[in-house]
Amino acid sequence: MTDVSCKFCGSKNVVKYGLAFGKVEEGIVQRYRCKDCFRTFKIGNEDETQTDDIIPDRSEPAE
Ligand SMILES: [Zn+2]
Repeated sequence: MTDVSCKFCGSKNVVKYGLAFGKVEEGIVQRYRCKDCFRTFKIGNEDETQTDDIIPDRSEPAE
C-alpha cells in the first residue's frame, strides 16, 4: 500500500516505478508512476519539483 498522491493530478492511483538516482546527498529515491495521467515522479525532494507555474513576483517594491 502506498500513501502517495500524484504530484500532477493528485490521484492516489500510483504504483512504484523503480528507483531513481537523485542528488548525491539524497542518494536513491523512490520513483512512482501515476496510472491516471501516466507521468512519473519522485518522492522525497520537494526542492526538485519543476515549477511550471510562473508565480508572479510580488516582491517588487511598489513605487
Ligand atoms: Zn497523475
